[in-house]
Amino acid sequence: MALDEFALIGRYFRTAQLERAADSAAVALGIGDDAAVLQPGAGQQLVISTDSLLAGVHFPEQYPPAELGYRALAVAVSDLAAMAATPLAFTLALSLPQVDEPWLQAFSRGLAVAARDFSINLIGGDTTRGPLNLGVTVLGQVARGQAMRRDGARGSDLLCVGGPLGDGAAGLAVVQGSDLPPGLSLAGQDYLQQRFWRPQPQLALGQLLRGVATAGLDVSDGLLADAEHIAQASGVALHIDAARLPCSEALGSWPELQQLEWMLRGGDDYVLLFTLPAAAKPHISQWRAAGHAITIIGSVHAGSGVLLDVGKGYAPLTGERGYQHFRSLDD
Ligand code: ADP
Ligand code: MG
Repeated sequence: MALDEFALIGRYFRTAQLERAADSAAVALGIGDDAAVLQPGAGQQLVISTDSLLAGVHFPEQYPPAELGYRALAVAVSDLAAMAATPLAFTLALSLPQVDEPWLQAFSRGLAVAARDFSINLIGGDTTRGPLNLGVTVLGQVARGQAMRRDGARGSDLLCVGGPLGDGAAGLAVVQGSDLPPGLSLAGQDYLQQRFWRPQPQLALGQLLRGVATAGLDVSDGLLADAEHIAQASGVALHIDAARLPCSEALGSWPELQQLEWMLRGGDDYVLLFTLPAAAKPHISQWRAAGHAITIIGSVHAGSGVLLDVGKGYAPLTGERGYQHFRSLDD
């Protein structure tokens, strides 16, 4: 690369803000050697997840670099939250078409803000020339057997969500400069834009759910698609009551049908969707009191697939029938 590869790494990635974003005893050796060395705590299991973001596919080429840096790490860390893990460290595989120093400066700044927000240190990576592509691998830890998997939901469990739905899709509409509803305030626009640029992985909630939730994941593809993942992995049916879906005040400015469409099918919310045994219900009010916006949106039953009640009783939502059922809201 034009700017020597090692100078580039030293200037933008081997920085105190990224290497020591968190006070972590787990990093025995960070950037600079052939590999990093991690020391998970005694009795802990390592949790590892990789995300690739390709320009033009996962984000527009002209994406503001500071926001891209923040978002790339936030969505990767959300997978740790979804496993009920505590972040330890991350690596960054970066492919760049050219060395654009203002871009790198802003990108690394946004990345460092996220690293600090989520208490996670950069421990290594790779830098190559090529089409703009970001590969983030996050590592976390969780006590043996306590990871929140997708396959443990059981009939009679409660189905819960950890925060408002639909804000990611509405945020994208704001960011893209789409026509906005007249009732949406400037503060509402700002809120939604932040929800899109700076998703907040629900790490603290994930950790509370350890050993309590029977199954869980983070909503990245949309509520229905992700609920289907739990239903399939657990071999159960999930019932969702549309009237209970939590909607932010800002999203409430759109017509009802649009709200529902985004809450059900919009992606990029990064809130946790999880199942709890009915006996764990008393925990919910405690967690709410501690500031976690948990809503019970449905329940788990014997059977398969996702069933939605939009006021006409529970009906399956998978396949063409489901689509038609949803369409029938129009009339
Ligand atoms: P090697 O050739 O041994 O794979 P590299 O020359 O690719 O090593 O990288 C040198 C050091 O810089 C390694 O510790 C590597 O993890 C780190 N590194 C390379 N690119 C990045 C990056 N984008 N962010 C953080 N660390 C990086
Ligand atoms: Mg290398």
